[in-house]
Amino acid sequence: MGVTEILRAAAAPYGLTVDDGLAAKLEIYARELAAWNEKLNLTAIRDEQGVAVKHFLDCLLVTQCADFSSGTLIDVGTGAGFPGLVLAAAFPGLSVTLLDSTGKKLAAVESIAKEMGVSNVAFIHARAEEAGRLPAYRERFDFVTARAVAALPVLLEYALPFARTGGAFFAMKGAAAGEELTAAANALAVLHGEVVKEYDFTLPGGDERTVFCIKKISQISPKYPRPSAQLTKKPL
Ligand code: SAM
Repeated sequence: MGVTEILRAAAAPYGLTVDDGLAAKLEIYARELAAWNEKLNLTAIRDEQGVAVKHFLDCLLVTQCADFSSGTLIDVGTGAGFPGLVLAAAFPGLSVTLLDSTGKKLAAVESIAKEMGVSNVAFIHARAEEAGRLPAYRERFDFVTARAVAALPVLLEYALPFARTGGAFFAMKGAAAGEELTAAANALAVLHGEVVKEYDFTLPGGDERTVFCIKKISQISPKYPRPSAQLTKKPL
């Protein structure tokens, strides 16, 4: 089985279909990931099954939480493009910004997006806590996403400044999601975030996943995000 067959079979039980256009783009994505992995450690998941399920399906399942067909989205700490580039490929009407502090990864992802023919993407090479203070990006996005970037109390301070009031941050978490949420109570209060939905699922193979949909209730103090050292040493 190739990536498309694996993905379609794995997605069906969730009621998710992958049309031919998206499948063709994701085939290119998988091929390009493998090629870039030869020169750069883009992703530790390298086998077709893993790429189809742990990357593509995991990212596509965020779409169970909201309608991403239009609007603006920023993916914080996108790495090899997850989930941002998958969502850009799935929704040509969504305007996607991929942000990462590692320039080499971002350059690879830009090249991969070109190969895939995905043009609704922009790229920001910056630390989240610095870009989140800039008027061009602060409070500008309908949707914010992040997967495997930091524990929730820190992640909220990276992500919520980008969301407009009424927008939402989708935090993609693993098995420790519950504990992370408990630890994030103060950060949610300080940064005016409210968990409005929680989507729990198990990926084929058994990985437990949770997506927290966190609504930005109102503008947050200009004090946040704090500089890197403070933010990570003393999480809210
Ligand atoms: N989101 C991708 C995924 O799920 O496969 C990448 C995860 S990777 C483990 C974490 C990524 O976050 C890295 O590419 C790293 O450069 C980026 N990152 C970590 N802290 C960041 C920060 N403060 N600002 C921007 N990017 C950051």
